[in-house]
Amino acid sequence: MEDLLKLNIIELSKLFEKREITSMELTGFYLERIKRYDQEIQSYLKITEDKALDMAKKADKNIQNGEAGRLEGIPFGIKDILCTKDMETTCASKILKGFIAPYDATVIKKLNVDGYVHLGRLNMDEFAMGSSTENSAYQATKNPWSLDRIPGGSSGGSAAATVAGLCVASLGTDTGGSIRQPASLCGVVGMKPTYGRVSRYGLVAFASSLDQIGPITRNVTDCAVVMNVIAGYDHMDSTSIPHPVPDFTEMLGRDIKGMRIGIPKEYFIEGIEQDVNQSIKETLLLLEKNGASIVDISLPHTEYAVATYYIICTAEASSNLARYDGVKYGLRVQGKDIIEMYKKTRLAGFGKEVKRRIILGTYVLSSGYYDAYYRKASQVRTLIRRDFEEAFKKCHVIATPVSPTTAFKIGEKTDDPLQMYLSDIFTIPVNLAGLPAISVPCGFDTLGLPIGLQIIGQPLDEARILQVAYLVEQEKKLKKIPDRYA
Ligand code: GLN
Repeated sequence: MEDLLKLNIIELSKLFEKREITSMELTGFYLERIKRYDQEIQSYLKITEDKALDMAKKADKNIQNGEAGRLEGIPFGIKDILCTKDMETTCASKILKGFIAPYDATVIKKLNVDGYVHLGRLNMDEFAMGSSTENSAYQATKNPWSLDRIPGGSSGGSAAATVAGLCVASLGTDTGGSIRQPASLCGVVGMKPTYGRVSRYGLVAFASSLDQIGPITRNVTDCAVVMNVIAGYDHMDSTSIPHPVPDFTEMLGRDIKGMRIGIPKEYFIEGIEQDVNQSIKETLLLLEKNGASIVDISLPHTEYAVATYYIICTAEASSNLARYDGVKYGLRVQGKDIIEMYKKTRLAGFGKEVKRRIILGTYVLSSGYYDAYYRKASQVRTLIRRDFEEAFKKCHVIATPVSPTTAFKIGEKTDDPLQMYLSDIFTIPVNLAGLPAISVPCGFDTLGLPIGLQIIGQPLDEARILQVAYLVEQEKKLKKIPDRYA
């Protein structure tokens, strides 16, 4: 049975079609694994067993009738920030405890139309604010490669569950690296699509001008398959791009001869772990051996990206999170009047990091400081975007590390928010510029912890970064699941 973990979605669909296995069996297999292993990994906030079995049953019927969708019968884990009708959607926050979503996010609707199975809700940093999943109000998820380490964040539950084989695939969200960084630290594939490529309707907003939803999977093919389902224009999201969606699987396996891969000098700095540096360099040589040419590029405003991001994302967060006031959603703590009720609810409902962001965001937007902070940050954001535009005149894609380090120890950075923020230094510029990027496993450090390569593309050029990622995957043939769970 454990061999099932090695199959991609296309191969699993063939097994369904040939009646070699049913979705009920596959779903049962995953539910069993969750029960066996998630006690120690803590990736799921909630397992929706009855719902999963219902959906699997329906999928088997559709398969029998020859009406299978592209994800028919495939068990998924969902980051607990995507509204799913009639299900509790908490964002790993106490303030949304008991909030039952009245509708499906567009991505959930799309997964539904194509027949997915909902295994459960995956853990995350509260409201997606964090890089280690330690900011969850409920539990700290462990890295399946080493249980005393963090899985990355904020989609740490998604990455950990995927690599440990507790779902076939999962959805995460990425505002400043929250898909790519945990994917890198857990040794799975994670893609942040172009801003506007995937509808944000029904995604609980953190920083609306940066947020994107994307897949986390054990292989590149699955990433492309899931992208085919979730991408596309949606009139319910005003930032959705009305652009046709190509078949993302089509470029997989094509050679990369003549492709120019840009290497930004600002991304190979002191502070990168030696093993990470070496693994990235070796992977670049491999790409060269396969016919790509490596070109040196410069992204001169990179050093301002983290500061810019933490002004823009906190500003947007302070505004987005104003709606949790005890009136409309989840938690309410009574007070002697409405103001006291607001205060008590927000005091009890939000965790420390979320409060820090709200306070910072309120400050940078306040009159007298707006020009110095928010406006300035918006201007620098434009410069960062232009850096990429210039760079893409010289190359087709850009390759960088995803994270300067491999997975750190649980508790190592919780007392030092600045250190935590700096771990996103290579992923944040991509969000500020709205570009697509993928994290693909490219090696392990001496401790056996995974290392990820980031491939950044031009707007709407997801197919090409998938093509490069696929080549890395095929050439490297790295171990995909930690021995303990294989
Ligand atoms: N770690 C970053 C932050 O804390 C990014 C989070 C994200 O992408 N959701 O904001």
